[in-house]
Amino acid sequence: MASTTARLDLDGNTINPMTICMIGAGGFIGSHLCEKLMQETPHTVLAVDVYNDKIKHLLEPDSLPWAGRIQFHRLNIKNDSRLEGLIKCSDLTINLAAICTPADYNTRPLDTIYSNFIDALPVLKYCSENNKRLIHFSTCEVYGKTIGSYLPKDSPLRQDPAYYILKEDVSPCIFGSVEKQRWSYACAKQLIERLIYAEGAENGLEFTIVRPFNWIGPRMDFIPGIDGPSEGVPRVLACFSNNLLRREPLKLVDGGESQRTFVYIKDAIEAVLLMIENPARASGHIFNVGNPNNEVTVRQLAEMMTKVYSKVSGEDSIETPTIDVSSKEFYGEGYDDSDKRIPDMTIINKQLGWNPKTSLWDLLESTLTYQHKTYAEAIKQAIAKPLAN
Ligand code: NAD
Ligand code: UDP
Repeated sequence: MASTTARLDLDGNTINPMTICMIGAGGFIGSHLCEKLMQETPHTVLAVDVYNDKIKHLLEPDSLPWAGRIQFHRLNIKNDSRLEGLIKCSDLTINLAAICTPADYNTRPLDTIYSNFIDALPVLKYCSENNKRLIHFSTCEVYGKTIGSYLPKDSPLRQDPAYYILKEDVSPCIFGSVEKQRWSYACAKQLIERLIYAEGAENGLEFTIVRPFNWIGPRMDFIPGIDGPSEGVPRVLACFSNNLLRREPLKLVDGGESQRTFVYIKDAIEAVLLMIENPARASGHIFNVGNPNNEVTVRQLAEMMTKVYSKVSGEDSIETPTIDVSSKEFYGEGYDDSDKRIPDMTIINKQLGWNPKTSLWDLLESTLTYQHKTYAEAIKQAIAKPLAN
């Protein structure tokens, strides 16, 4: 429940209730952010998206304690003149809208580039022209590959953090060749970051850029054939959850050697709330938001998810829990991968005093408990249906 006592920012100033235009509010991150804002703050959200399934529980019924503080506007920002009005009547715009599933980057590069660059242009223009603050969601993928990945395999420098830690104001952005269309997303995100930064420098736009490092938790993406297309390929959490629910081996792309750091969505949302409520500390900054302590290879992630799922479902794991697949087979031509992603946390620590709390095991336990509760029965029925016919 939103407390009735005045909310104070990190410098002890009263936080006044604000109106937030949240674009992409119906997605994974948006749904958690809306939940947090409704349950713990007095702010109002104009939730913009083409879908609202993931925030339905916040919109209905009218008797909810925050009714009147959240309005859903079903619109596509590609072509809807209502967008400017919504930004104009808000204090802050948060842009989350994007195509952000790697399976699309090499197979739908045009949609990916339009979504992540062209479609973000009007949002930036309306914020700049109307002197409105913007929090824009970019990605850790703008760093691309680490410098260390280009060193010889046996080089001792590969162990030196200077060659792999990703730091907002220092690290270069290293992408593969244009034929490797995987990088269409990173490149579009990088260019919109540069444009936002330039609007800040030349026209005084008040902005914050967020670079999420693999935020995961309930409601991420979809389970193919249940609440998304059967042939769709979501991000790794949903792919592996789907395999576990269906008792199929988890597919390790190119040996599952890539490394990732995973952060629990609820920890990451705390960081976003600090940005929202501390504009003086957040504006003009680019923030890594991730958990450097939760690093695993994709293979280790698969092994851990298999163990955790056995625990929460009470089912033994299958005899062959993982299989190797080539990236070409899994994603098609033009796929490439980020080798390693460890966020430097200096800037977010200094500006907002934020640190993630949840271990990988704990976040997988709560997320897989949710996946099991939400999908196990539907999967059982889906599997039984063809047999019954
Ligand atoms: P998501 O796909 O769950 O949410 C994006 C939402 O934007 C969806 O609900 C979609 O319907 C909406 N949207 C897309 N195009 C739209 C349009 N033209 N008009 C209106 N709505 C539109 O993704 P997410 O994981 O919540 O990611 C949100 C943002 O964070 C994205 O910009 C993404 O690039 C970035 N990001 C997320 C992660 C992560 O770990 N989840 C990592 C890196 C970057
Ligand atoms: N991956 C995998 N099996 C899957 C799905 C993904 O091995 O079923 C790998 C993918 O190749 C990448 C990592 O898992 O190395 C993370 O993929 P995700 O789609 O979550 O997004 P990314 O972190 O690459 O943006």
